[in-house]
Amino acid sequence: MNARALLQLSPSAWSRLNTAQPIDYPPLQQSGVQLYLKREDLLHPTISGNKLYKLHGHLQVAQQRQCQVLVSFGGYYSNHLHALAATAQALGLTSVGVVRGHQPAQLSPTLEDCRRLGMQLVFVSRRDYQRKNDPDWLAALLPKHVNVLPSQVYVIPAGGEGSAGVAGCRALVDAIDEFPGLSNTTVCVPCGTGTTLAGMLRESRSGETYLGFSALKLGSRRAAYKDDVRRLSEAATIAARWDIVDEFHCGGFGRSNAELLSFMQQFETTTGVPLDPVYTGKMLLGITALAQRGYWPAGHRVIAIHTGGLQGRRGQSGRDVQEQRAL
Ligand SMILES: *Cc1c(COP(=O)(O)O)cnc(C)c1O
Repeated sequence: MNARALLQLSPSAWSRLNTAQPIDYPPLQQSGVQLYLKREDLLHPTISGNKLYKLHGHLQVAQQRQCQVLVSFGGYYSNHLHALAATAQALGLTSVGVVRGHQPAQLSPTLEDCRRLGMQLVFVSRRDYQRKNDPDWLAALLPKHVNVLPSQVYVIPAGGEGSAGVAGCRALVDAIDEFPGLSNTTVCVPCGTGTTLAGMLRESRSGETYLGFSALKLGSRRAAYKDDVRRLSEAATIAARWDIVDEFHCGGFGRSNAELLSFMQQFETTTGVPLDPVYTGKMLLGITALAQRGYWPAGHRVIAIHTGGLQGRRGQSGRDVQEQRAL
């Protein structure tokens, strides 16, 4: 489906395009766990994964306010900026990406795509990037680089977070209706800002179980992170059982290790499903490790959301690149 047609549908309709499919992965089967993957990576070649769901609510607010210019933030390999650039182009809107770090001599494949899709890139130092949530800073920055009127601008927080970002994400579980009540089932999703998980928890029901696999090293921040997700969900009480697993960050955000890379290779050759090393690879490594430890009873079902991110696999070997990542 082309991007414009896709954007005319609701998140619930997007979600039904790729329902959860059983995946034969022997290490999980040997542990008595049946894996299902909901392949949001197949949603669209450039607007893949959870980023479109997170953009949906923001696009609606931008439209209500008649804003023609969408501004957001990200690193050199940002899935969010990539999806935003493609979405804005399909809708005939202008997009501006404020990028963490100086302009490199050679753009990353991600930023190359963004530019080709018409996104205007504004590079800021890492120190300045920390001020990205300060409206005064942004209001002073933009006129120096782009020719837009402040009244036209709608700012999407980094990673598409915020209340509007959460709204579309509930639909990710709408389409799991062939699993009545989701009993005997754990729904798994990778977490960066936690926005996607928060959306899934928003209207969750008792008897359901969710696990978020953190791509970040949380350590002592884990409890605070859980509070943030709870707050983001805007639910008075979250009915489902849920938790954040932060054991499989593989060195921290944007970092990887030999265990992760060899796991991904094995998973991909066995199942034919490509993974990305920042989010989905870590989640499936974690699911496999938990299953092998006997975390779930035999016969348990795990439905994992493949949140996409495959564009970020390009050109990401090398330490520099990993250090230059940002959400
Ligand atoms: C951004 C992203 C996530 C994390 O989503 P959050 O809502 O920030 O938690 C997970 N997977 C992929 C592939 C992503 O690009």
